[in-house]
Amino acid sequence: MEMSISSTEQGVRYRQPIVCVLGHVDHGKTTVLDAIRGTSVAQKEAGGITQRIGATDIDAETIERSARALLKGAKLKVPGLLFIDTPGHVAFSNMRARGGALADIAVLVIDINEGLMPQTVESINILKKFRTPFIVAANKIDLIPLFTPVRDVSFIECLKKQRKEYVEELDRRIYELVSALYGQGFQSERYDRITDFTRTVAIVPVSGKLHIGMPDLLMMLAGLAQRYLENDIRLRTDETRGTVIEVKREEGTGVTLDTVIYQGVLRAGDEIALNTRDGPAVTRVRGMLINTHGRKKGLREVESVQAAAGVRVLISDKLDVIPGTPMIVVRGDRDKIFEEIIKESSVSIPLSEHG
Ligand code: GDP
Repeated sequence: MEMSISSTEQGVRYRQPIVCVLGHVDHGKTTVLDAIRGTSVAQKEAGGITQRIGATDIDAETIERSARALLKGAKLKVPGLLFIDTPGHVAFSNMRARGGALADIAVLVIDINEGLMPQTVESINILKKFRTPFIVAANKIDLIPLFTPVRDVSFIECLKKQRKEYVEELDRRIYELVSALYGQGFQSERYDRITDFTRTVAIVPVSGKLHIGMPDLLMMLAGLAQRYLENDIRLRTDETRGTVIEVKREEGTGVTLDTVIYQGVLRAGDEIALNTRDGPAVTRVRGMLINTHGRKKGLREVESVQAAAGVRVLISDKLDVIPGTPMIVVRGDRDKIFEEIIKESSVSIPLSEHG
């Protein structure tokens, strides 16, 4: 496939595109995300609805390393990808909708053996509403009959090891998916057969369980984002903005906010505007913690963070902050920022109660 992702525009820097994973319950969102970051979150949270939205950073080097054979030496322009861990339970529909609003690009996970289900359609409607570009991870390809076991490989590598009958059955199921997605208003195709990515939704066959197709998924996301979202992911320093994902009141420490910064730089001591149950308010950043993944897992205190990043912000006032609302660093006209916060906070989508 042809993707001109090696050209670098002089002087232009990009932040990581924010990626959200959506899909029907049990289709493998947690497993796929887990395969991407190589931890064992899925096992720990099996059966639970206690997942919370966090964010996982995958840097460009890691993507380039994992997708080396697919990228053929091309360098990425984006510094990586920031994945938002969206809750998979229908009770969190509203949070999922907010995750969709925040994301630059999305992965719609569909069990290839089940096809479109109610929450798949619900997810598609969220993506439509926010005009979020997405790719489809057609998951559980290891359950298709006559699968020759492989693991930790790209889809392209996996394909080489499969029998003709398997590949035919895989294609038959992909075309069922193509037809179902057409019914939702989208042209789609297996990603390695696409020529025009502006019009066609890429389908990447994967197995979250066997870590198949993760390089393909990461390459497609990075490639599409830097090619079609250039303006959205251009690094900006004039404004600092984020979204509050979760609010915690803790005895002693005060109020902490789990946020995703999608624009600019947030520093300790910054004055920030937030939406509270008593209306917009201003407070200060008292401290910040970031999540570190990989070998050095845990929380680390930082003085500043640059978009895009998931960060836990400790604020200096006991505010009743509303989750899912904006956080904006105050530089200039406070009233204008308050107006904007009220406007952005009112975005909500009616969603079904049952999946
Ligand atoms: P979620 O509700 O969408 O987050 O789905 P989970 O990631 O929790 O997965 C639901 C179930 O499907 C779990 O039992 C997983 O082990 C299983 N699963 C997920 N991905 C795969 C896959 O690629 N192959 C197989 N065979 N099972 C999978």
